[in-house]
Amino acid sequence: MLNSTVVGRVEVTPELLILRVRPDAGVPDFLPGQYVALGLPGSAPRWDKAEPEGQEPASDKLIKRAYSIGSSPEQKEYLEFYIAILPSGSLTSRLSVLKEGDRVFCQPKVAGTFTLEHVPEEKNLVLVSTGTGLAPFMSMVRTSSTWKAQRRITVVHGVRYPGDFAYAEELCELSSSTQRLDYLPIASRAPQDWDGKKGRVQRLLEDGFLRVDPARDHVFLCGNPAMIEDLEALLYRQGFTVHSKKAEGNLHVEKYW
Ligand SMILES: Cc1cc2nc3c(=O)[nH]c(=O)nc-3n(C[C@H](O)[C@H](O)[C@H](O)COP(=O)(O)OP(=O)(O)OC[C@H]3O[C@@H](n4cnc5c(N)ncnc54)[C@H](O)[C@@H]3O)c2cc1C
Repeated sequence: MLNSTVVGRVEVTPELLILRVRPDAGVPDFLPGQYVALGLPGSAPRWDKAEPEGQEPASDKLIKRAYSIGSSPEQKEYLEFYIAILPSGSLTSRLSVLKEGDRVFCQPKVAGTFTLEHVPEEKNLVLVSTGTGLAPFMSMVRTSSTWKAQRRITVVHGVRYPGDFAYAEELCELSSSTQRLDYLPIASRAPQDWDGKKGRVQRLLEDGFLRVDPARDHVFLCGNPAMIEDLEALLYRQGFTVHSKKAEGNLHVEKYW
């Protein structure tokens, strides 16, 4: 049942965890933006700050949830995940106590259509995330095929507190080394004296700080459903159309709950 080993863990904050997992069968092929299910049995220990569970899961039952892959498919050592730990959560309150060497279930089958497959080479990418919704975009920017010759990439990351900016260093480095990536971090609950951008992600577009053009850009939205719904409405008004299996579009969405 548990077919993978934890090979790394970085605690960004007590409620934000980067977990690296090596499947026994090796890292599967996947496209940046796809996800797999991780799982642990009900008997697995929970975080000491976890809230009591309404109904305790059966000890032998595997609790499974979907997680976007944050690593690049070019990297074959492990799959990386960026996970928000919810004190009331069934699985995340158990994932939070995993340490190197522990065993975990990782679904061998990779899934998802939130990928760059249908984005023409000449289009720019505007990758907008809240919280751990940054994960699929890390996979994209870490992968060489994303970097088409003339393409510009904008990564927007909205969080609550400035301490929640996981991957800031890597994104700043990519921005200066490629000169083709704009990294826009924004914090909604930053202290008064913080000198970064303050507010919700929506504000960047509403205020015109971030300008997008349906003729030039493909926009990807990932994370909190409220942010996605607000921005979908705003982007429809600007002429964007949602991408689906049935109809090609320039607006791609992945809601986490
Ligand atoms: C395609 C897909 C990819 C996903 N990728 C990721 C990922 O990369 N990283 C990640 O952290 N999560 C991701 N999720 C969410 C993840 O699958 C779980 O829903 C989440 O980890 C909660 O699981 P849980 O068992 O701890 O909570 P549960 O006991 O299942 O409780 C779930 C409830 O918690 C709330 N909730 C879920 N996620 C959050 C959140 N981030 N913040 C606040 N409230 C939340 C919702 O109300 C939801 O109904 C993804 C979801 C989908 C559908």
